[in-house]
Amino acid sequence: MIRVGTGFDIHRMESGRRCVIGGVEIPHDSGPLGHSDGDVLLHALVDAILGAVCAGDIGTLFPDTNPKYKDMKSEAFVEEALRTANDKGYALSSVDSVVFAESPRLGPHREIICQNIAHMLSLDFDCVSVKAKTYEGLGAIGRGDAVAAQVVAVLCNKE
Ligand code: MG
Repeated sequence: MIRVGTGFDIHRMESGRRCVIGGVEIPHDSGPLGHSDGDVLLHALVDAILGAVCAGDIGTLFPDTNPKYKDMKSEAFVEEALRTANDKGYALSSVDSVVFAESPRLGPHREIICQNIAHMLSLDFDCVSVKAKTYEGLGAIGRGDAVAAQVVAVLCNKE
């Protein structure tokens, strides 16, 4: 049996914050604001994994009111989401994603982000896709005031 989950996230960009996307630090003068490390791509990935197995969402599993999650690396949320899916009898088989960012431009970092996520998920490199889109200068993302990500995850029954 195949299950599909979708996730979306958006973060405000703040000057002087580290810019971590897909677990990779990207040199930039601003970064996604968040209670954790603000990794918009990994947050959307967590929601896609949880969504596929009907296990709620990142906000209910890791509430931003809990000081435990302050400045936490989002890899830990991904690991917990994977464990939840595995406990329900499902294994991740592929991930496709889009990151919407006017700046920084993600094209040059796309491959390393893919490799990092594949490693994190114990998937082959060719089972993880990350696409980078600008917002054609429109709205908050187009001004570089926000970044967003959309992820689809496919999970298969382990039996
Ligand atoms: Mg988030």
